[in-house]
Amino acid sequence: MATDRPTIFALSSGRPPAAVAVVRVCGPQARVALEKLTGRVPEPRKATLARLRDPASGDVIDEGLALWFPAPRSETGEDMAELQLHGGHAVIAGVLDVLGKIEGCRLAEPGEFTRRAFENGRLDLTAVEGLADLIAAETPAQRRQAFRQLKGLIGDRAEAWRRRLIEALALVEARIDFSDEADVPENLIGPAIDAARQLRDEIVAALVQGRGGERLRDGLVVAIAGPPNAGKSTLFNRLARREAAIVSPYAGTTRDVIEVHLDLGGYPVTLLDTAGIRESAEPVEQEGVRRARDRAAAADLVLWVIDGSAADRSAHHPAKNSVEASAIWLIENKIDLAKPCSESASKPEIDSEYQFILSASAINGTGVDLLVEHLAGFAKEYFSAVETSIVTRARHRELLEKTVAALDRALAEAAKSDEREELVAEELRAASTSLGRLTGRVDVEDILDVIFRDFCIGK
Ligand code: GDP
Repeated sequence: MATDRPTIFALSSGRPPAAVAVVRVCGPQARVALEKLTGRVPEPRKATLARLRDPASGDVIDEGLALWFPAPRSETGEDMAELQLHGGHAVIAGVLDVLGKIEGCRLAEPGEFTRRAFENGRLDLTAVEGLADLIAAETPAQRRQAFRQLKGLIGDRAEAWRRRLIEALALVEARIDFSDEADVPENLIGPAIDAARQLRDEIVAALVQGRGGERLRDGLVVAIAGPPNAGKSTLFNRLARREAAIVSPYAGTTRDVIEVHLDLGGYPVTLLDTAGIRESAEPVEQEGVRRARDRAAAADLVLWVIDGSAADRSAHHPAKNSVEASAIWLIENKIDLAKPCSESASKPEIDSEYQFILSASAINGTGVDLLVEHLAGFAKEYFSAVETSIVTRARHRELLEKTVAALDRALAEAAKSDEREELVAEELRAASTSLGRLTGRVDVEDILDVIFRDFCIGK
């Protein structure tokens, strides 16, 4: 690692003032930083009480804990110092000021510590993503998934796949490059193709686990839709337990899609309040209608809200024609206004379109607890199979799909005739590049290493 590499430092803890602040320093001057601030370098990885001074004036800035993580056994793989200070503005400013005056030291850019960890091979790309997800996790299920990814659930799998792929490729390359050599066996292609086929099946199996892993990151999408004035915004607000949408007695005022993130039984649910879905001649409103339809169509569940007290209820049942979500529930709202005797007489036959039907009053809260309970159950069921899924981002899916496509092409080429080794090799290389992109470790040197390790060519 180049010693002219800048040393970076930053306040790594949250916004001051706070009880404690953590300042981290990473790079070749981290040791110097500790010496300048505390007068010495503590024993590696042992929290040590230290008095921090401004080396220019000798003034005491604070007393805190100093930690020293010499390379390579640090989070970034480089020399690192960590200071735990009192979290006041002036304390932090004083320490950052001293660090900024040390030659070769500068403030870190966003994500720069993690970037160094990646560059130094401490984390692969998927682990970097897992770390980002862990910090962003809002629910326990998201946290668990992010932690598994940080710890290599997908990265290690992808790396193992890639290694097997490179070995298969090495066989094919050896066959091509050294076909004249007496000690290179003829039948290298067969085992390579078997390995490629098995890999393909394993990757496909990981892909068919569904989009649950991606959904867990983003939240299950539940859209509240229905005719204008049915009480969608009122219900949305009640569910969100805050005034997030405009509730108005006039139809068509909720033009925009508004969303809130809910934690339902530990699972993330993104709730959308769509504009009143209906035809309109007004261009702005048409656009609102189009957007509402798109979001609702992409939702995992639609809560179709109708005014249950309205005279002609069947006029308010266009759910299936208007939205294409995988599941639709009917919410008969405003039951506080409904006439007591209408209950059994008015069940229209279209009700069979809905997986769940609930009478509620968004105004007084009747039925809302039951709705939340059912939503939590829906989320739980949806996510129950997800805990094992390794694909958590569209990026993973795309690269794995590319890998499979390349493997399919390699298998197709191999099936044609013996003379297609070059083409087979090319597709296997493409497959391994896609896998390498997944973890961020594309390196052609690997292929040569394997060739020379497994075959004593030129001995
Ligand atoms: P949206 O157009 O579907 O979003 O409907 P809003 O939420 O804006 O509600 C339309 C009107 O119905 C407002 O005046 C609400 O106060 C009223 N409203 C909503 N839910 C209920 C309910 O459960 N009972 C009664 N009585 N009025 C409601």
